Parts: sequence; structure tokens; C-alpha cells
Amino acid sequence: MPEILVTGGAGYIGSHTAAALAAAGYSPVVIDNLSNSRESVIARLEKLTGKKIPFYNADVRDGAALDAVFAKHSFSAAIHFAGLKAVGESVQQPLRYYEHNLTATMSLLAAMQKHGVKSLIFSSSATVYREDDEVPYIESGELGCSNPYGWTKLFSEQIIRDVCAANPGFSAVLLRYFNPIGADKSGLIGEEPQGVPNNLLPYVSQVAAGIRPRLSVFGNDYPTPDGTCIRDYIHVSDLARAHALALDFAANNAGAKAINIGTGRGYSVLEVVAAFEKASGVKIPFEITGRRAGDIPEYFANPALAREKLGFTAELGIEEMCRDAWRFEQNRKLFPEEK
Ligand code: NAD
Ligand code: UDP
Repeated sequence: MPEILVTGGAGYIGSHTAAALAAAGYSPVVIDNLSNSRESVIARLEKLTGKKIPFYNADVRDGAALDAVFAKHSFSAAIHFAGLKAVGESVQQPLRYYEHNLTATMSLLAAMQKHGVKSLIFSSSATVYREDDEVPYIESGELGCSNPYGWTKLFSEQIIRDVCAANPGFSAVLLRYFNPIGADKSGLIGEEPQGVPNNLLPYVSQVAAGIRPRLSVFGNDYPTPDGTCIRDYIHVSDLARAHALALDFAANNAGAKAINIGTGRGYSVLEVVAAFEKASGVKIPFEITGRRAGDIPEYFANPALAREKLGFTAELGIEEMCRDAWRFEQNRKLFPEEK
């Protein structure tokens, strides 16, 4: 079975992708420094997939550590999730974000070149689109970011494009994720935010579980039908599946290609709250508070290129996203609390 390096594979999207890779007949090998995840995820992944998942507790920025892992395995491709991802924190600590995320991307590319691994799937984001672009966002739209985190994604995309241009056999798929939510239907893996969640779904889940008293809805005076912001939420298991399809595409197409991964359908904050209440049977107390700085009223994906190039269409709807997020939230207390 082809071995695939998964950096950040103990994290939220990486762990679901490792499961999807195993299901698609690949052997995922995980490197993660556990800075935002727990080692018990690997044991849960092994239970879920029924396969041994080689795991290395290492920092992707550490070239010598990468060399050692590349020397032990024969990778046909790498999928790069590892990095820092908190938008607000990136505004406070720009140098830390640029150093971390760009060094991680460059260090991985250097190891790939050194060891002759020629296919890369990169975790990019819808945040690379200019906020005044028309919706739905399309890959040929204008690019530009409003925070350092976003720029680390856009600069990483550029670095990867340059490496592809310099190495004709090299291929890369730059997957621009919209808003991943939900969890694997087994309830064994899911999003495990540390501290107070920044994102909507983990916050709603924790309110439902009684961990937090109420949700703050950040503004209801946007130019949308109910006044709250609209996003393109995608089930993390659908998103994970797109990575396995991207590996096939990369194996057959040299050069770098950016592809949106969304559903093409937006939901408002209040629609998500209503869907979660329906899926869980739990009432979510909320209050309307002020707008959150930097929020854009509405965006969602044009998903046509993913369909055309990868044969990918999202299959799971908002009901499944909420149901699976709630199942995982309830299970979470059963997992050992090592960090
Ligand atoms: P996550 O924090 O759950 O996963 C990232 C994993 O990488 C964590 O397990 C962390 O411990 C590890 N890591 C971080 N820096 C590392 C390093 N230097 N070396 C080794 N391991 C390291 O995040 P996620 O939500 O799974 O996101 C995965 C990727 O997708 C990130 O690059 C993120 O920016 C991108 N992305 C996420 C979203 C989202 O909404 N979650 C949206 C768009 C893009
Ligand atoms: N949101 C909210 N309350 C929260 C967290 C998020 O009202 O506690 C809103 C946020 O303003 C945005 C949407 O939910 O309109 C999705 O936010 P999230 O942080 O999950 O994703 P983003 O699209 O900002 O990356």
C-alpha cells in the first residue's frame, strides 16, 4: 500500500484524513508535535481503521527529524496540515505565525526534494480570497488576506508554486477549505479545541454539553436574510475524502493547482444553531453581541472545479454535520485526558 506522509495528522482535519486514506487503500504515516492535539488520537485512529499508524512526535520545521522519517519510509506523497491556525492570535503574534507556518512548508518541501518525493497536498483556506470578491468564491478570483494567518497560506501557496515551476516532475494540489465541522461517525475522533473555542461549532457543542452557559452570536445586523453571517460549512469527513481524491489527481498532473473544497451552499449562524438544536434535541441559549472584528458577511464556494478535476462532491448535509459533532462532544469525556 502506498505510504503517505501526513504532517499534523493528530489534529482535527489530519486525523480524519488519515482515516480516509486508510479506507482508500493508502498507509498514512503521521508526524505531529502534539502542540494542538493529543497522542491518544493515534490509538483511536488505529481502532477506527484497524491498521497500525506509524507516528512520529516531531516538529516539521526540524529538518533532521524529517530526514530520519523520510529515510525510514518510502513515501509516494505528502499531505501538509501542520501549522498554527488561530486568526486572532496571528494578528497579535505575526512573526511567530510567519516563522512557524512558512518554515514548516519550506522544511517539508526541502525534505521532499532531497528524498525524491514529488507530490504534495497542501491545506490552504478560503481566507486567501479578497474579502470584496464576489460570492461564490472561484479559484480564479482575486487573492489577498486581512490577517497574518491568511498571508501564511497565500505565501505558502506561492512557495509551492515556485517549487513546482523549478521541478518539472513536481505536483501539488492547494486545497482551499471552507468551514470544516462535524466529526467521524464513529465518534472516536473529532475537533478537540484547547481552552475556549474560537469557532462556531465547537462553541455551540460546548454550550449544548453544559460546559459554557450561552453562545454569543457575533452581530445580527449584516446584510443577510436573518442578519447573521453566512458560511459554507462542510463535513470534515467529506473534506478528508477530498484529500484521497487529490492524491490521484496529483499523481497524474504535474504543476500546482488550487481547488476549493466546500459544498457551494451557505448557512447563517442562526440556521446552524437551529440545525444543531434539531440534531441534538438540546436548546442552545444565545445572545446577540457585537460584531467580531474582521468577519465578512457572507461567503461560500464555487465547488465546480473540485467536481471537474477531483470528481469530488460533498455528500453530507448540515444535519449530519451537527449530529456527528454532537456525538463526538458527548464521547469526548470518555477519552483519556493526557495532553
Ligand atoms: P489542528 O490544530 O487540529 O491540526 C494541526 C496539527 O498540526 C495539530 O495536531 C498540531 O499539533 C500539529 N502541528 C502544528 N505545528 C506543527 C509543527 N511545526 N510540527 C508538527 N506538527 C505541528 O488544525 P486543523 O483544523 O486540523 O487544520 C489543519 C490545517 O488546515 C491547518 O494548516 C489549518 O491552517 C488548515 N485549515 C483549517 C481550517 C479549519 O477551519 N479548521 C480551515 C482552513 C484551513
Ligand atoms: N460565530 C459566532 N459566535 C462564536 C463563534 C463564531 O457568532 O462564538 C460566528 C462568526 O462571527 C462567523 C461564523 O460564526 O460569522 C463562523 O465563525 P468561525 O470562527 O467558525 O469561522 P470563520 O468563518 O470565521 O473562519
